[in-house]
This record gives sequence, structure tokens and C-alpha cells, in this order.
Amino acid sequence: MGPGWCGHEVPERIAAGPMSASPIYLDHNATTPVDPAVLDAMLPFLRDRFGNPSSAHAYGKVAAEALARARAQVAALIEASPEEIVFTSCATESINTAIKGIAFARRMQAKHLFVMSAVEHPAAAEAVRYLEREHDGVVAVVPVEQDGRVDPWRVLAAAGENTALVTLIHAQNETGALQPLQQIGEVLRSRGVPFHVDASQSIGKVPVSVSALACDTLSLAGHKLYAPKGVGALYVREGVELHPLLHGAPYEGGRRGGTANVAYAVGLGAACELAMGWLKGGGPDRLRARRDRLHRLLEADTGAVLNGPREERLPNTLNLSFPGVVGNELLEATPEIAASTGSACHAGKHEPSSVLLAMGRSPQVALGAVRLSLGRGTTDREVDRAAKALTAAWRKLANAKP
Ligand code: PLP
Repeated sequence: MGPGWCGHEVPERIAAGPMSASPIYLDHNATTPVDPAVLDAMLPFLRDRFGNPSSAHAYGKVAAEALARARAQVAALIEASPEEIVFTSCATESINTAIKGIAFARRMQAKHLFVMSAVEHPAAAEAVRYLEREHDGVVAVVPVEQDGRVDPWRVLAAAGENTALVTLIHAQNETGALQPLQQIGEVLRSRGVPFHVDASQSIGKVPVSVSALACDTLSLAGHKLYAPKGVGALYVREGVELHPLLHGAPYEGGRRGGTANVAYAVGLGAACELAMGWLKGGGPDRLRARRDRLHRLLEADTGAVLNGPREERLPNTLNLSFPGVVGNELLEATPEIAASTGSACHAGKHEPSSVLLAMGRSPQVALGAVRLSLGRGTTDREVDRAAKALTAAWRKLANAKP
């Protein structure tokens, strides 16, 4: 056992460092580790630089300056201006603020239409369903093609008169499918329809520019790009009105009450700056090469089939359906890796992922899916070991089937 935290003993594996004897981590779409440089940037603000950024004295000024720098760092990554960034607690808060905040600011009325795709994260889908249920909104769900991408023209055809908002995921969390948003944003803007983008998965993995996407609001989460859980951000284009979810003191330009979480905002800012360097330094190409190596090995040895587009996809994400097995059972039989499936478990029975079903996969193929999401720190050796372990477990399970 290692030294205690708050009087509790820390399990040896964690005390020795999360990666020492632990499974190979291939679940970066669920959450990323905190980059040591991010933690270093945060620590002073959890120790002696503890001021409230609204205070007029020296402690407050130090905090306010740090917050301003963090805001500029987040803005720079997505080509926004600092005043357009609102710090939040997570992507779910950012998404809810955008969807409900815009609907309420535009005096949402019964029968106002909300458009989303069939593969939104629950953070967006449930916010829209809430407006449908409690405020008499109408929801149009745009289907996706077999590769998990929407046809832009179907979105634009759905977003007719009386549309309160269109919300679309940029990169799908299970498949990594990148949606063709550019073609959609420009047209929606010309029609005066507000457009929200959930970029929680794409930020830090591929370049994201709010002007290229022509969106009005865009959401992101710190813990998907090597900052901690507990911080997110919302981009709100200048001139776009939204009601805050948290009413209170007029912080964040009146868009969110509550004293800013300075240390975590600093962490998010540092993570955004690191991401910019990684994106410019060829990080995505290196990651894609490793991901594709894992794909080739698994495809050759098991006949697993890809869920999602080959090209228009996050460079780290590999969603494969393994023939003849259930994804959850395969992962249980492969303790050497930490990964996930999109399937839900109800009363001990696995339900296929709704995202894969929306792509036209059969329930059986969807149940065989495993999502492998690599990170910046994933090595070639880990890729080879993961492929070997998964293949061995798959052989055992598939051969054991009658
Ligand atoms: N949107 C997408 C695409 C996600 O992948 C996630 C998290 O998995 C979220 C929103 C919600 O993020 P959080 O739980 O950090 O609020």
C-alpha cells in the first residue's frame, strides 16, 4: 500500500502510477489521463494562488489574470475570441446551456422544431427531448448512412421554417465518425437558424475551427483532452443570445453564475495549448498510423469488421464488430486491455448500441462491437500486445461456441 490520501489507503497499483501493472488503456474516448504539464499548471491555483477572480486585491488579480489567459488559450484552439468562451463544469453543462439557453432566449413556443441526428450523445438528445416533453417542442431526428454520417442535405431539408435550433455531434463518440458540418453551417446561417455543435470528442484530436464550422455555439469537455474531469467550455458566437442555466452573479459575461473554477480553467487552457502543439506537430498522423496498425492486425486475425467511415473518422478511434462473440464478453476475457462497448446492460442482458443500430447494423453484429480508442501516449508495443490479447481471447470464445 502507498501513502494515504485523506486517511484512506491508496491501492498499490494506483500509488505506483496508473500505468505500471495496469491494463493497456484503450478507452481515451471515455476519458483521458491528465497530462503532467496540465497538472503542473493547475497546482499553484490549488495552493497559494487561491484568490477569487472577482476580488479587487492582489490575490484576486492573480486569479483573474490566470482565468483570462486560460480563456485565450481555449479560444485560440478553436479560432474564437476569448470573450466568446464560457467556462462550465462539463460538456453536458455546455450542451444544455446552448440548447436550452438559445431556445429560451428566442422565446421558444409550442411546435418549435429541434433538429438532431440519430447518433447524438445523450447530453444533447436528452436536452432536446426535455424541450419536446416540457415545452411542447417538436423533434426531427435525421437518420445516418451506413457509415454513421448524416447526409447534409437531409439535415437542411429537415430544418425548415419554425426551427428553433439544429444540434449535431461533430465526432461520434462510439465510431469516431466525423460529420460533414461545414456544408450545413453556412446554409443554416443564411437561413438564420441557430446551430450548436457538440465537439466534445473532436477537440484536441483533429483541428476544429468555429468559423469553418459556421456554428453559433460549440461544446467541449476538459477530460477528453488531457485536462481533468469537472471543467468544460462553451463557445458562444458574438451576438448570439442565450439564457444562463445557472442564474446568479453575472459571471462569464452573464452567461453562467457561480464563481469560476480557476484551477480547472487553467488546466483546460494548458490542455488546449498542448493540443495545439500536438495537432501542428503531426500528432494525428502518428496516432492514425498506430490505430490503423491495430485495425490491420485484428482484421487479419479475426475477420472483425469496421463500424464507421474509413476516412472521415477521428484518428484514434477503432470500432470493430468481432464475428461470433459478444463485445462485452470479449472484453471480460481480455483483462490485458481496458476498452468499452456501446452496448447497455439491463438486468444482466446486453442491449446493442443504438448508434450501431441507427447505422443499419443487425443486433447480432452490433452486440459484437468493441470500441478501441487510442491516446497520444499509446505505443506500437501496446498496439501489438493488445492485438495479440484480443485475438487469443476471441479465438477461445469463438471456438467455445456450439
Ligand atoms: N458529448 C460527447 C460526444 C461525449 O462523448 C460526451 C462524453 O462521453 C459528452 C458529450 C458528455 O461529456 P461529460 O460527461 O463530460 O459532460
